[in-house]
Amino acid sequence: MDPNANYAFATRAVHAGQSPDPTTGAITTPVYQTSTYAQSSPGVFKEPYDYSRSANPTRTALEANLASLEDGRYGLCFSSGVAAMATVLHTLNPGDHMILGDDVYGGSFRLVDKVFAKHGIDYTTCDLTDADAIDRAATDKTKLVWFETPTNPMLRVADIRAVAERAHARGITVCVDNTFASPVLQRPLALGADIVCHSSTKYIGGHADVVGGALIVNDDGLHEKLRFIQNAAGAVPGPWDCALLLRSTKTLPLRVERHCDNAEKVAAFLEGHKRVRGVIYPGLESHPQRELVRRQMCRAGGMISAHLQGGLEDARKFLEALRLFTIAESLGGVESLVEHPAIMTHASVPKEQREKLGISDTLVRFSVGIEDPADLLADIERALG
Ligand SMILES: *Cc1c(COP(=O)(O)O)cnc(C)c1O
Repeated sequence: MDPNANYAFATRAVHAGQSPDPTTGAITTPVYQTSTYAQSSPGVFKEPYDYSRSANPTRTALEANLASLEDGRYGLCFSSGVAAMATVLHTLNPGDHMILGDDVYGGSFRLVDKVFAKHGIDYTTCDLTDADAIDRAATDKTKLVWFETPTNPMLRVADIRAVAERAHARGITVCVDNTFASPVLQRPLALGADIVCHSSTKYIGGHADVVGGALIVNDDGLHEKLRFIQNAAGAVPGPWDCALLLRSTKTLPLRVERHCDNAEKVAAFLEGHKRVRGVIYPGLESHPQRELVRRQMCRAGGMISAHLQGGLEDARKFLEALRLFTIAESLGGVESLVEHPAIMTHASVPKEQREKLGISDTLVRFSVGIEDPADLLADIERALG
């Protein structure tokens, strides 16, 4: 790869961070299964490799690859998505305040509410589909705004540029959890965010075989702080997981395009079905923020939520009758999954809050895979019948 060339996304997905191994010419980045590195004299080593918690060449390749895909300068990888989030939260001090999107991933909410709140980090949850909410929630102690777009499972969309403008006017750092969109569809740094977070367990990994997380930033100072905590707190991924993720990112653009193709077909099919009360998909003209989706995302992604007709038992029967869609938590893999947010992923959200967000007992969430779309539609048709 020519370091000065301006390669397109799909090219960088295959090559960024990876060049043939200098000793053997191996095309694929080796799995550097080592905990430590020989020093020629005390304290003299091949920077930055002194110990694998601090740095490991397989991880370095993945970090450079993900940084490139998010149009950022620095990538940092972690053992999970919540470990990546915890690293950002560790930059805060007791007494600081943060603004949290009101329907972030349950584990993200739990980390703030049950772990960091205890250490003196105060927080306010906000519906950030209205960027003015920043002005209402911010105090002179507010240091961070953390949100997802599209959200889970209601697929609401926040205007990253507008939120970043409001936050930056008050000196607040902006972090976008870009897990649902993936860098193929949305690049928050280019829209003004300071930090992008990923659960690479989802689309980036894409094969339901790795748990991982990542942060991508542009700012030198922020990078230094996060890099320090990555090493000091130590939630790093092993080299095998990094190698699996490097294999995955090579096909990320291909997979996400196919997820989008299939999801568009499934969403249109569900919208036209008499047993379905309503479909939420950012790619449908009926999505309340369709204009913003067009501006901010290349395409609408692979996640769909739908309210079925009937009650809880009808929803349960539908899920049990599906044969190709597997009932499971998680998302973003090549295989299609389906889940019931009120019983499964969002059971820990109090019922009133669920109702306020629209998570009804007949809401089902699909993670549309890359199988043949005709088979997926036939499975849904039969199960609805
Ligand atoms: C899964 C998920 C996380 C947490 O990631 P883990 O890899 O499970 O720790 C965070 N944010 C979003 C949007 C997720 O879907």
